[in-house]
Amino acid sequence: MVIVLKQGAPEEKIKSLVRELEGLNVKVQLSIGVEYTILGLIGDTRGINKYHFASNEIVEKVLRVQESFKKANRMFKPEGTIIDVCGTKIGGTNLAVMTGPCSVESEEQVISIAKAVKEAGANFLRGGAYKPRTSPYSFQGLGLEGLDYLKAAREVTGLPIVSEIMSTDMIQKFADDVDIIQVGARNMQHFVLLKELGKIKKPILLKRGLAATIEEWLMSAEYIMKEGNENIILCERGIRTFETYTRNTLDLSAIPVIKRLSHLPIIVDPSHATGKTWLVEPLAKAAIMAGADGIMIEVHNNPEKALCDGEQSIRPDEFTKLMTKLRGVAEIEGRAI
Ligand code: PEP
Ligand code: MN
Repeated sequence: MVIVLKQGAPEEKIKSLVRELEGLNVKVQLSIGVEYTILGLIGDTRGINKYHFASNEIVEKVLRVQESFKKANRMFKPEGTIIDVCGTKIGGTNLAVMTGPCSVESEEQVISIAKAVKEAGANFLRGGAYKPRTSPYSFQGLGLEGLDYLKAAREVTGLPIVSEIMSTDMIQKFADDVDIIQVGARNMQHFVLLKELGKIKKPILLKRGLAATIEEWLMSAEYIMKEGNENIILCERGIRTFETYTRNTLDLSAIPVIKRLSHLPIIVDPSHATGKTWLVEPLAKAAIMAGADGIMIEVHNNPEKALCDGEQSIRPDEFTKLMTKLRGVAEIEGRAI
């Protein structure tokens, strides 16, 4: 249930209304926006008399929320969430550009890519230290060593780092080492992991599952938020469809749909969505035009020799050219990179 308050409702009266509601055994989330002040009620609201509260002098209207996600719901928080990661904002007018190799392969490799993408205008460095590979015989990532190399690259370039976590026992290490913890598509419904990530404050990049509906994806965000961590960035990375020409099918409509349903920022990963280097540019452009808050792109210094995802990784010089084009697209949409 959502209670929208009248503009200029006095603080004392809001407090007393919140106390009355809390007495009914529900949690009240107060969201004070520029245009609206909203009380989001979480818990069993079936016994709450909507009309009693609708007649309160400071209440504009009372709405029953049909969706099962609450904290992630835009009804609970009409203004878009902006997440500050080491001084760089995700959401709002800024576009986040997270770039780097699929997997960290050596210190030299990740530092050289980091320098090149920073120069081109990326504002985050991505790189996998733990890789969720389809085959157990494929390269599984450098593990702790990989995290050390990412930290070295951050030291050299100042770029905040994003890396994927796969298990709960690594949460403390990731919370200490990286700036954004990525939950990959394959772990989007690893509920034990999600709950534990809800207990820390570190921003979480939650990728859409391979075959997850938008609602299931938002419910996964809700798992994290319910425990207290509301710093979530969603990432559309393509879904499984009958089409096999591309690695996945990029669901561009998910961007405006998420914007309508949720206040959380959303970025798009055209690299995993398509699996092909030449599709990265058109879909990155389309994602920005559709309202994405940023993009994630795989860049490798030698894609032919990459230990993971070389066929979808662009070279640093291609990334530099792409950034020039994306700046133009961003400008049309009133966004800045
Ligand atoms: C990745 O970002 O390297 C990755 C494995 O992505 P996804 O979880 O979207 O497949
Ligand atoms: Mn990859």
